[in-house]
Amino acid sequence: MSKRLKLLLITLNILSILFLIFSVYFLNQQKSITGRVISNPNPEKSITGKLIENQEQVDEFSNTTKIHWSHMPLTYKFETNCPEKREIEMRKAFEQLKQDTGFLLWFKETKTNPDISIYCKESQWEKWKDETLADALIHLDKSNKNLIIKGEINLYGQQTRLCKTGYPRLEVHEILHLFGFRDVGDMSSVMFSYQLDYQDCKIKKIDKDIEKALKEIYSS
Ligand SMILES: [Zn+2]
Repeated sequence: MSKRLKLLLITLNILSILFLIFSVYFLNQQKSITGRVISNPNPEKSITGKLIENQEQVDEFSNTTKIHWSHMPLTYKFETNCPEKREIEMRKAFEQLKQDTGFLLWFKETKTNPDISIYCKESQWEKWKDETLADALIHLDKSNKNLIIKGEINLYGQQTRLCKTGYPRLEVHEILHLFGFRDVGDMSSVMFSYQLDYQDCKIKKIDKDIEKALKEIYSS
């Protein structure tokens, strides 16, 4: 074999080895891109998956600029033992609000990780010299102050205060605080700041403007 031929063969060998290395590398590149695409066919879906893992929800009502919850139904849980009467009135209020909004708002009782936690506590009568029957608290998302991520309702003592009409005003009032509605001075409003006596309370439904505001947000 001549020296030239030997050199040619070595060069060919080197070239074919280089070709092999490149094709294996190239194929691997292709594979990894394909793999990524297959495991992530829909980027939005995968982001959703990640958010759910972090126990957050996608905002289904992001069209609004008003304070709102991200999803329906909202789940609720009695975190402490409650007097039976108070539990019944609370459940009735969730059901009532569903009816009042034409099923736009709806709620489900859960045993784990609720959106709304309900606590029954001792009467506050002595502590504050003024009887608070219930109060409510909301937690907002850190990065989106319009987004409500958790609600708490505290029910104090044994007493329930149904209206003459049978409407669970006290409980509906507290739930509406969890939707960002504030107390008002109008006695005919469900958001009137003081508890009315049984006889004075003529409420049968939430206020028209509250209903309208809720529809604007949760119909989208
Ligand atoms: Zn209030």
